[in-house]
This record gives sequence, structure tokens and C-alpha cells, in this order.
Amino acid sequence: MVSRVIPVDPFDLVIFGGTGDLAQRKILPALFRRFCSGQWAEGVQIIGAARAVHDRTGFQTMVAESLRTHAAAQCQDEGALRAFLDRVDYVTLDGCSNEGWDQLSDKLNQDRVRAFYFSVGPRLFGPLAERIKAHDLATPSTRIVVEKPFGHDLESARALNATLAEYFRESQIYRIDHYLGKETVQNLMAVRFGNMLFEPLWNSQYVDHIQITVAESVGIDGREEYYERAGAMRDMMQNHLMQLLCLIAMEPPAKFDPDAVRDEKLKVIRALDQVQPHHIVRGQFDGGGSGNGYRETVGNPRSTTESYVALRAHISNWRWAGTPFYLRTGKRLVARSSVINVMFKDAPHSIFGEEAGRHANVLSIRLQPNEGITLKVTIKEPGPGGMRLVDVPLDMSFAEALGSGNQDPPDAYERLVMDVIRGNQTLFMRGDEVEAAWAWTDPIIAGWHARGDVPKPYESGSTGPGDAELLMKRDGRRWQGINP
Ligand code: NAD
Repeated sequence: MVSRVIPVDPFDLVIFGGTGDLAQRKILPALFRRFCSGQWAEGVQIIGAARAVHDRTGFQTMVAESLRTHAAAQCQDEGALRAFLDRVDYVTLDGCSNEGWDQLSDKLNQDRVRAFYFSVGPRLFGPLAERIKAHDLATPSTRIVVEKPFGHDLESARALNATLAEYFRESQIYRIDHYLGKETVQNLMAVRFGNMLFEPLWNSQYVDHIQITVAESVGIDGREEYYERAGAMRDMMQNHLMQLLCLIAMEPPAKFDPDAVRDEKLKVIRALDQVQPHHIVRGQFDGGGSGNGYRETVGNPRSTTESYVALRAHISNWRWAGTPFYLRTGKRLVARSSVINVMFKDAPHSIFGEEAGRHANVLSIRLQPNEGITLKVTIKEPGPGGMRLVDVPLDMSFAEALGSGNQDPPDAYERLVMDVIRGNQTLFMRGDEVEAAWAWTDPIIAGWHARGDVPKPYESGSTGPGDAELLMKRDGRRWQGINP
């Protein structure tokens, strides 16, 4: 099956921080793949803008190298690569002074969508917004794209929202959470609201509990300074896991429209109870004497930053009263695996007797790797041994089902950047959503500080600290495995 490509009109995209890691590794390769798909009209222009001094050719050489590494398949076509690079330009510019802004202004076209991607550290978000306005670069069809982290706590997120609001309308601000661009995350909405099968069962009457796991096998190398200040709660839980929780738990929006969807997500966050201290487990990976533990990596032998967090959340509304949501995320775990498991209740009465055992349906939604959906159903064990029951998976890998073979699914950034150009904010976080998520997160972190909480060590390559298992065990439940 070939995916439908919806063409977009010519646009100008300025990437502040165009020489940085995110731009080179993710944004530019995503743009190149979209270009190769034939989605763009003639005349699209991509302008890198950063402090480093480059001329246009120098920047194009840098981009070509990155594309050869991060979009290798498309780079087989040298003609396509050259045609893409022809659209790439560069301006040396300082976000904190007026240097380079006139040159940028000269390169921009009138009367077309203009997007400014803030692929720079958060301290530059305000100064960039201010200068875009001051240099009169903001047209009515201008959008800005803001990378995470969006604030460090509620106060800083509010301040940042207020600063951006001085220069741009909310409808021009695209706060990126790249998890929302993943194919399966969007499929969550398709599965829930496009099928009659699931929605009637999607409540506390039928769902025992829900598990959301975002496990990473990598550590924090290269991001030590940022991570030591953030930790797993700010880096992952407040944004990515919170967004997944919202999509799983929200009421059906009246339509698939940005504000209808975001209104429903916001209601979920606002209905979250404050998490009790005994419902949270923090962990920090240790290196088992290899010198590779968290503390050695950040060079702080007394660090109390968590690289793992697991918690039990409750949503106080009619749909979910009584159904716990267990969320966990961590670094250096046994495998890279992001999965949502909807654990249905046991059948109310077994006609097959005690010896048939207890069986419950599980709907697993895999975000990475191998995006897809599995529904575990109970059937009779084959053979003449009587009525024994066994759980078998109805498994759908998107790659297989949709015929993309061994091809990787489109990267989240491909989808998200094109949504910016098309002006579709559905998959971007609204300012009030971000603030509500911080309002839930802040007291948890404040509680750790007040109690002098120290994260529990866990072995690199494990499933996390033992206390996270206890969190479940106390409730008579257990985590599903973390499988690659
Ligand atoms: P980076 O340090 O690799 O790149 C920063 C870029 O900003 C460079 O191009 C640099 O020249 C430019 N820059 C710095 N100061 C400047 C100034 N005064 N004026 C103009 N340009 C300036 O950082 P990165 O990893 O690419 O991250 C960029 C943003 O994206 C950060 O907010 C980060 O939190 C976020 N982010 C990054 C990743 C990732 O995988 N790298 C993932 C998610 C979010």
C-alpha cells in the first residue's frame, strides 16, 4: 500500500540552530524524505540559521553529510540529493544580538507560509521571538515551532508562554512533542474512535488497569548537563508519557480538530489526582563497578537525579474512577521499547472451572520498535486434553499489514513539520496543556526535595528498581515484560 501524499504549497522554513544535533540528525533528514516523496511544490526554501560561520556551500556540504548518514536510502538518488540541497541556504545569525537578521530578511519570500523552527536551547526561545517581531519578519501566515523542554516547572512554562504570547497568537505557536508524530500514537485515536469494538469497553467497568512503558536502552551520554537538571520526571513523564496517557484516557472529541482534541486532553490532565509518595518509585542506574553508572556519567558522586520513574496515577472522572494507570520510563533498561498495555478484567464468571485458569484480554499498542497492535485473546488449547484455555495473540505489525515491508515507518518529524506548514495544530501541545502538566508534576518533584528523597539504584540492562515491581505487586498486579 502506498501512502497518500498531500502536496503543500511553497513555503520558507528557517531552522534556528540549523547546525545543531537535532537539525542535522532529525529535522533536515525528515525534510529530505518529504522532498523525495514529491510532496513539495517548486520553490520551497530551507534556511539554516545559527551562530557558526558558514557560507551557503559550506552548510550544504554539512547537510549532505548528515543526510548520507541519517537518510541513507534516499541518498542513493544523487539527483534528488542535489535538488534538495539547491533549496538549502544558510545565514550566520546570533539569536541574542541583531547580527545576521537583515540578511535573513532579504532571503525570505512574501505571501507564503513562513515557519521558524526554534531548534536551539530554551533560553533562546524568548530572544528569537522578540527579534522575529523586531525585524518585522512575522507575517500573518508565520508559525513558530518550539522544541522541548517547554519550561522547567510551572512558573517557567508560564513565563515562556507569556513571552511567546507577546509576539505571536496561540494559533501560530507549535509546541513539539515528537511522540505525538509517531504513526502508532495517531493510530491510538484511529483504533479508539474509528472502531465500534473498543470504545464500549474503554472504561473502569471493563479495564482493570493500564500500563504505559517508555523504556530506553541508551543512557544520557552527550546530554549530561541538561539531564542532571531535568531527570526522568521532567524529561519524559511530564511530556511524552503524559501525552500518551491523555490520548488513551480522553473522551471522544466531537471532531478531529485541533482544539476539540486538545480540550479533551486538557480535561484528562486536570482530572488527575495528585500522586501519593508511596505510589512513586525513582531509580538511578548504576554501572556495577564499571564506572559507567549514572553518577559517574554526570561526574557527580552524590547526584539524586532520577534516570527512572514509575508511578501509579488516577483519573477522577466517571470513565476511569477505580482504574489505575501505571506509568514507567527509564534509561539504560533491558531494551528500547515503548508500549501501552490495556489490561482488561477477567471474565466475571468462568464456565470452565478453576482448572481452566484465569485469563484476561490484553490490548498492546507498540510505539517502538516494530509499531503495531496485539490483542491477546483466550482460546481452547488445541488437542484432546479437555477444555484447557490458552492466551494467543492476534498480532498486527503495521509494517506487515500495510505492506511497507522492511521500510522504516515515516519519522515523527516528517509528519510534524508538514503539519506546521499545513497549519494543523492537532498534534502539538497547547499552552494550557503544558501548564496543566507542570501543575501536576511540580508537587511531585517538590515532595522529593522536601523529603530528601534518594533514587533507588538499579542495574544497567535490567527492568528498573525492584521497588517498581513492588508497586505493582502490592496491588496484586505485575508489569508486562520489556521486550525489544
Ligand atoms: P545543539 O547544541 O546541538 O545545537 C544548538 C544550535 O543552536 C547550534 O546550531 C548552535 O549554533 C545554535 N545556537 C546556539 N546559540 C545560538 C545563538 N545565540 N544564536 C543562534 N544560534 C545559536 O542542540 P540540539 O541537540 O540540536 O537541541 C536543540 C533544541 O532541541 C534544544 O532545545 C533541545 O532541548 C531540543 N531537543 C533536542 C533533541 C535531540 O535529540 N538533540 C531532542 C529533543 C529536543
